[in-house]
Amino acid sequence: MTEHTSDIVILGGGSGGYAAALRAAELGKSVILIEKDKVGGTCLHRGCIPTKALLHAAEVAEHVKDAASVGVTATFSGIDVAGVRAYREGIVAKKYKGLEGLVKARGITVVSGEGRLLPDRSVAVGDDVYRGADVILATGSYSRLLPGLEAGGRILTSEEALALDEVPGRVIILGGGVIGVEFASVWRSFGAEVTIVEALDHLVPNEDIALSKGLERAFRKRGIAARLGVRFASATQTDSEVTVELEDGSSLTADYLLVAVGRGPATGGLGYEEAGVNVERGFVTVDERLQTSVPHVWAVGDIVPGLQLAHRGFQQGIFAAEQIAGLSPVPVPESTIPRVTYSSPEVASVGLTEAQARDAHGDKVTAYEYNLAGNGKSEIIGTGGLVKVVRIVDGPVVGVHLIGDRVGELITEGQLAVGWEAHPEDLAPLIHAHPTQSEALGEAFLALAGKPLHAI
Ligand SMILES: Cc1cc2nc3c(=O)[nH]c(=O)nc-3n(C[C@H](O)[C@H](O)[C@H](O)COP(=O)(O)OP(=O)(O)OC[C@H]3O[C@@H](n4cnc5c(N)ncnc54)[C@H](O)[C@@H]3O)c2cc1C
Repeated sequence: MTEHTSDIVILGGGSGGYAAALRAAELGKSVILIEKDKVGGTCLHRGCIPTKALLHAAEVAEHVKDAASVGVTATFSGIDVAGVRAYREGIVAKKYKGLEGLVKARGITVVSGEGRLLPDRSVAVGDDVYRGADVILATGSYSRLLPGLEAGGRILTSEEALALDEVPGRVIILGGGVIGVEFASVWRSFGAEVTIVEALDHLVPNEDIALSKGLERAFRKRGIAARLGVRFASATQTDSEVTVELEDGSSLTADYLLVAVGRGPATGGLGYEEAGVNVERGFVTVDERLQTSVPHVWAVGDIVPGLQLAHRGFQQGIFAAEQIAGLSPVPVPESTIPRVTYSSPEVASVGLTEAQARDAHGDKVTAYEYNLAGNGKSEIIGTGGLVKVVRIVDGPVVGVHLIGDRVGELITEGQLAVGWEAHPEDLAPLIHAHPTQSEALGEAFLALAGKPLHAI
């Protein structure tokens, strides 16, 4: 057994873990980062980046199919799956190389192997032990399955779906949340028949109802079927297809079933509870400074209850590093973290939905919807959609909700408005460039400030 020491030991090198490592090293701390697979984690290798590359390929396919509508002659003759794969893998490889370079340049020691927390707060990897004054847990998440379902053959999770070397002819997607909706969008653009099954009454059910309904309408127009408010009962597969039984007695058959019912925290069997770390329903509980129930043991990213998003992981990693280094970072409320679903159309939001705002503030809430039909740039790029801003009467903006192609890039302005608790009257004088989609947000702020321009 060899013992190694550093100021900080980090278990897991995904968005949360590597962000903590980079910031801690910047603050002069010695860091050991333990990773059993590849630094970059789910987001870089199996999540955000490869799926967004797929969505971009899907967008290009749609543009080629629609080229005639803008007077460009082009013929869509299909998807070269190997070509899409090469493009996607090239992006991931480039970003991975960049990240490895950054980690090396900051002097971070990366240990390859599976770590386990020991009761004395050190981390064991094989016969070696790594001891730090502080330990950050950042072991991330895994694709959940439903009871009776096992991935393999015709049943996929997002990992197998990414690795699929064909465009499925027919696919059933279990789960109408962000991952299910994004794959539905890609596969439809690539030519598949897609049916989404969602137990709740709406697609993207955590979003404001205006966005859910907008997405359902847009998907219907794109020929994506949705079975809403019906629960999965069972699935059986043969060599060539899979049949899904639903609790209403109906059944669906397709080439593949993608199970996209959420992600569970990867905390089992890692020694957390034995070391005294409080774990509830698999998640590591933390205080507002991200400290677990054990002093000097911190947790970040998808293992911490809340939004499972890469940028939240980055922020928590930075926060934990600064906290350990004796700075006083300001906690970021979950309500100011932007959320984007990168389907076509995109769905983006920050803060409270109108219903949540009414629950919290009663009738002191007002909301304004601006339809992208009134926005020149949206007309030019051929997208419908809307902007919805929720405010407290005579008070700040508490929610911004967007749907339409490319609107994910606009959420930053919504985030600043919500994060800074801006009033529409503060925002209305700020000019938006013409013609941009951001003008739609400007119109909503103007309307809420009592001086609508291109609206009634
Ligand atoms: C298909 C898909 C698409 C997504 N798209 C987006 C998106 O567009 N935007 C967004 O914000 N988020 C997206 N996410 C979510 C995002 O990937 C996660 O929120 C983010 O990766 C969480 O970071 P993390 O550091 O907590 O965990 P992870 O990234 O999962 O990293 C954990 C790391 O710990 C390692 N590890 C685990 N156990 C051990 C151990 N015992 N020893 C050593 N190493 C260990 C793992 O190998 C892994 O590398 C997506 C996820 C999926 C699955």
